[in-house]
Amino acid sequence: MNTNLLIGDSLVAGQGPGETILDPATGQPIAEVAEASVDQVAAAAAAAARAFPAWAATPPKDRATALLRLADAVERRGAELARLESHNTGKPQAAALGDEIPAIADVFRFFAGAARCMTGAVAAEYMPGMTSMIRRDPLGVVASIAPWNYPLMMAAWKIAPALAAGNTVVLKPSEQTPLTSLALAESIAEIFPPGVVNVVCGRGPSVGAALLRQPEVRMASLTGSISSGQKVLEGAAQSLIRTHLELGGKAPVIVFDDADLEQVVSGLRAFSFYNAGQDCTAACRVYAGAKIYDKLVAELTSAAASLKVGAQTEEGVEMGPLITAAHRDRVSGFVTRAAALPHIEITTGGSARAGGGFFYEPTVIAGARQGDEIVRDEVFGPVVSITRFTEVSEAIAWANDSDYGLASSVWTRDVAKAMAVASQLQYGTTWVNTHFMLVSEMPHGGLKRSGYGKDLSMYALEDYTVVRHVMVKL
Ligand code: NAD
Repeated sequence: MNTNLLIGDSLVAGQGPGETILDPATGQPIAEVAEASVDQVAAAAAAAARAFPAWAATPPKDRATALLRLADAVERRGAELARLESHNTGKPQAAALGDEIPAIADVFRFFAGAARCMTGAVAAEYMPGMTSMIRRDPLGVVASIAPWNYPLMMAAWKIAPALAAGNTVVLKPSEQTPLTSLALAESIAEIFPPGVVNVVCGRGPSVGAALLRQPEVRMASLTGSISSGQKVLEGAAQSLIRTHLELGGKAPVIVFDDADLEQVVSGLRAFSFYNAGQDCTAACRVYAGAKIYDKLVAELTSAAASLKVGAQTEEGVEMGPLITAAHRDRVSGFVTRAAALPHIEITTGGSARAGGGFFYEPTVIAGARQGDEIVRDEVFGPVVSITRFTEVSEAIAWANDSDYGLASSVWTRDVAKAMAVASQLQYGTTWVNTHFMLVSEMPHGGLKRSGYGKDLSMYALEDYTVVRHVMVKL
């Protein structure tokens, strides 16, 4: 297991304080990773800056070839990476291997192709004797800061468009989950010129903040919580660098009376509890029509209770533990406070599992009201609230009445109703009769306090480039 950072052409041990990496399924240590020192952070940014001119001038087809080789390496090392990812995050190993590794390889492949297919405005003579043209050029060094819920996938979402566009990168994975990014660093070192990608580990306030202070950094890309987004913006206010923020979510799920109940329940069983609900798009805030409400509560309760919770490689495991004891206690606090309200019923779950590891039961909370904390705040755990509505306008208003704006879904057999509601939702994504599905070709990103950066798709490539005007006197 690689615990070395990647700085320039070298895999080197961190010179900062050590961070103990835990297996969330047991609470036991699995590795010790030393943080980057401030000097190492500076060396990484300097290496990225040195690598930038040549990488920016590398023809798109050659950037694409390197990204394709990285995709191949991810696939070739898939079993090892999935094992490492599930060990470090607690998620089922089969899900890491079957769902995440192919999606990660696809992100690198998509951006390899996208690097060669950028489009834009036509060149023209807007002033007699002058030809104007638009260029989309890379910005320079991108500081990419990733969260712990899908460590390698988030690294891919950040690295791939930045490199495809011709930028160089310093990646800082979450201090809790650096292992797959460090494994990826080994492959990166074999494929890319030195300095094109650097990986430094450490905590946000020390290493993350130090990275953002480096004068070479031209753009900061963060996936994380709102409060980390605010800190990144405070730092960026000094340097005026571009920011790309993907923050939290609290996805509303509007289930109309005419929805296919079986489809809704099997969908929510999957999309509310995948990754133990530690997903910014998790289907966690259900609004159910008055006629379907009782049946939905009953059937979702049985479906959630039937989920097999366990450690990474247990036979048939569907849901793993939460990332840390502190996060499990935070989730538990939300449920305990909700349970104390007279109108709330916890229909299944509602407790942490005894023994080692940071397990929390799949939980369904019925009778929730719009003003309740459990409906308003991001829990980021295996907890679903259900609220009854009567009017379509009420469901739309409640769905939009949120600080967040990342993802949403509408469930109905009436296509016209689905389209009409989708057009009124203030969310970066709205799914109809499904939830959670992502493809590399389509953008993922929010509005309101969920941030404004787009990951995936050509829109991400736009985010990682700057529009320039070149005017030629003929
Ligand atoms: P977090 O905000 O605690 O940490 C994210 C990253 O930011 C980590 O690498 C952390 O070290 C770094 N960081 C923290 N403070 C920093 C600072 N002052 N300066 C620089 N870097 C700093 O988030 P988390 O707990 O790792 O992840 C969970 C959060 O991420 C949730 O809110 C979730 O919704 C959000 N998330 C959003 C998306 C999305 O696409 N919108 C995807 C996954 C997770």
